Amino acid sequence: MAKRTFEHGWFASEPTSLVVQPTTLCNLDCVYCYLPDRLKKRDMTVVVAAAIADGIPAEWPSSGAIDVVWHGGEPLTIGTERLTGLMQPFEQLRTEGRIRQVVQTNATLITDEWCDVFSTYDVAVGVSIDGPAAMTSGRVDRRGRPAFERILAGIEQLRRRDVAFTVIAVVGKRQIQDAPLILDFLRDLGCAQVGLNIEEQEGVNDHDGTPTKNEARRFWRDTLDWALANPEMEIREIAQLLDFLALSRDQRRADTKHDLIPTIGVDGTVVLLSPELLGTHAPEYGDFVAGNVTSEPLSAILRRAGELRYVAEFSRGIDNCKTACEFFAACQGSHAGNRYFEHRDFTVTETEHCKTSVQALVLAMSDLTLEGNNGA
Ligand code: SF4
Repeated sequence: MAKRTFEHGWFASEPTSLVVQPTTLCNLDCVYCYLPDRLKKRDMTVVVAAAIADGIPAEWPSSGAIDVVWHGGEPLTIGTERLTGLMQPFEQLRTEGRIRQVVQTNATLITDEWCDVFSTYDVAVGVSIDGPAAMTSGRVDRRGRPAFERILAGIEQLRRRDVAFTVIAVVGKRQIQDAPLILDFLRDLGCAQVGLNIEEQEGVNDHDGTPTKNEARRFWRDTLDWALANPEMEIREIAQLLDFLALSRDQRRADTKHDLIPTIGVDGTVVLLSPELLGTHAPEYGDFVAGNVTSEPLSAILRRAGELRYVAEFSRGIDNCKTACEFFAACQGSHAGNRYFEHRDFTVTETEHCKTSVQALVLAMSDLTLEGNNGA
């Protein structure tokens, strides 16, 4: 049988983002963290960063800019001098508008000096915070002390310097009934956009208590109600669903290509499909390693993606979703990492993640539409 290559499958030939790990270290120890090496310090070298930048071929991106997302560990633990050193090899690409620098941070280490870096390199800043203090209690340091006040201090620093920021909030059992409280808080913080990640089972996160589908459906209904009344703050998941609904009928039925989401570790190791797979020990999948940017360009690694067992299996999983699932048009098969961490199988269809993050949201939207029609 002919080998399935990514050009002919479910995957886009060029990525829209690269997730880059400047360091394995994190200064916090959040209860739901999936990173296996977060207490160890291993930093990326400039040689590896230069290999990533040099591996971006002239034809990328064909439109827009590729996000280079510095995502640790906690990227700011590496210090301003070392992170700007790692950003240097990307400078020409950035000034040409071909890449955009992005930092995803827990905000606890943000200083005036960091704000200078964000301004100089036009960095898009994403902050991780889950809501008011009681909602953010899962974000703790290694001694178990809440990080909330330190996160707020970092956000205050951003606000003083007029650095725009977005937020990623994890929604677990303790937050699932409080959508308006969380969203009011984040709006008042001044964040431009929030992404709501329903807590899931990933990597070494075996923290129990992930929300049920019914709890998530209620949460999304409350969130939709809130979004209608508060259009000034974009909610990523709702914006994506509205974009899908705005498509023509034919466009909604068309298949879309999945991003391979190359994630590059401190030593140049590349894994695909899910940042959570980096550092995960799985001999049957060769630890998900697709290659190393220090020995071949990223573009060459991506060209061979279809030969990897886990990529081929995920491709079959998407086929299975397309055959079996009524939510496929909106979802397109959701995330590889969740299939692996929940089922150790990329070919399965439903996961707890897709039930709470995709199916529950679509059902909440249809609840709202039905209520609107009945009330009309
Ligand atoms: S909702 Fe779940 S089962 Fe349905 S297409 Fe998405 S991932 Fe597959």
